[in-house]
Amino acid sequence: MILLKNCYALYTDPADPRCEPLRATDVLVRGNRIDRIGRDLTPPEDATDPAPQKTIDASRCVVVPGFVNTHHHFYQVLTRNIPAVQNAKLFPWLVHLYEMWKNIDEQAVGVSSQAAMGELAKTGCTCTTDHHYLYPHAFSADLMGLQFEAAEAIGMRFSPTRGSMSLSKKDGGLPPDSVVQSETQILEDSRRVIERYHDPDPLAMRKVILAPCSPFSVSKDLMVETARLARSYGVRLHTHLAETEDENAYCERRYGKRPLQLMEEWEFIGEDVSYAHGVHFNDEELEVLRQSKTAICHCPCSNMRLGSGIARVKEMLQRGITVSLAVDGSASNDASDFLGEMRQALLLQRVRYGADAMTVPQVFAVAVKNGARVLNFPGLGTIEPGKAADIALFDVHRLEYAGSLSDPLAALLFAGIAHQSAWTICNGRVIVENGTLTGVDEQRLTEQANRISARIQAAG
Ligand SMILES: [Zn+2]
Repeated sequence: MILLKNCYALYTDPADPRCEPLRATDVLVRGNRIDRIGRDLTPPEDATDPAPQKTIDASRCVVVPGFVNTHHHFYQVLTRNIPAVQNAKLFPWLVHLYEMWKNIDEQAVGVSSQAAMGELAKTGCTCTTDHHYLYPHAFSADLMGLQFEAAEAIGMRFSPTRGSMSLSKKDGGLPPDSVVQSETQILEDSRRVIERYHDPDPLAMRKVILAPCSPFSVSKDLMVETARLARSYGVRLHTHLAETEDENAYCERRYGKRPLQLMEEWEFIGEDVSYAHGVHFNDEELEVLRQSKTAICHCPCSNMRLGSGIARVKEMLQRGITVSLAVDGSASNDASDFLGEMRQALLLQRVRYGADAMTVPQVFAVAVKNGARVLNFPGLGTIEPGKAADIALFDVHRLEYAGSLSDPLAALLFAGIAHQSAWTICNGRVIVENGTLTGVDEQRLTEQANRISARIQAAG
């Protein structure tokens, strides 16, 4: 049981522009749900609740629902900021980094997953996916099992994708032969992870998504078979799409079609599908997205970092297309700073469309509610009785927020030099306490990550 006492500004639904902050209000969490909201709450005597009671002084904090990250590549934490590709665009960046990534082993997966999720949790995120599509031939462990262990250590709600690549250099693709799998292997393992890990409960801690890497790294047959397999189990689908003009050119050269046309033909489109990036869609393609109810996972920092372009988020939202937010992999961001990503989403649209392109509630809608919709967690997104106890608290009574408190919610996006939460609660468990992870030793994790990073880079 957790009692948040005396919140400075509690936003029960920050995506709603009419949502006014509740002042000096308490929130009581029981088990993994929000129990009550009100003034001067006292925790009830209840011997049936085994969780220890904790009271948090929230009198300095803006309190909002936990954020949802909808695209990532955790293993890339180990290859952030590589000098040789600091200034490269997507395809040469990929080709260079694959030579390092092919050295990923069990330890690298576990440590990078903890590091990435730790950073997300420290910036207010409580639910995330991961898109792992590299399966080096030497790797024999249960990769997704290692990731779920890491999520449990951090305490985060987790819906990883079973990624895949079946086309390597010898087939005209980009990755080395040693990290791609046969289509039979991919489909068998996809079925295994769904049966072993997927939990359809709205407040599940574990879900699974199927995610071929991109139209240029798998075959048509694998996309079609993956989509059919996912639908037979009722799990979601995800892939990279329309990230760069190079990708459009590649698809036109190889198949005579643009990427979205391929997705339509390959059954990889619809309400259960999300595409990472979606930067280069034309007007007709936006209409196809709207009609098919396909979602876009917007990655502003990565798109800026690789010079990929500015996604048409303002227009997508105007048309009623679901847009969620994502930090993308750590080799193209190179941070998992989720609140920072929200700030970039707000600002980047203004570069393309002007100062009124995107509002603060719209950013929260994208970062929380739409994320929950994309990852299929209907129990998330607002702070209300019965909803998931996934909550982020940001201390705004610090120097970097001084003078910004006329609108405490907007202060989180417009002001602030550090984006760290004071407290993050996920599924009724405190996972960040006074700015520090509770589930792992951060310093030890940092040193482990640096050691493995050096080893992988030396081997590449
Ligand atoms: Zn990506």
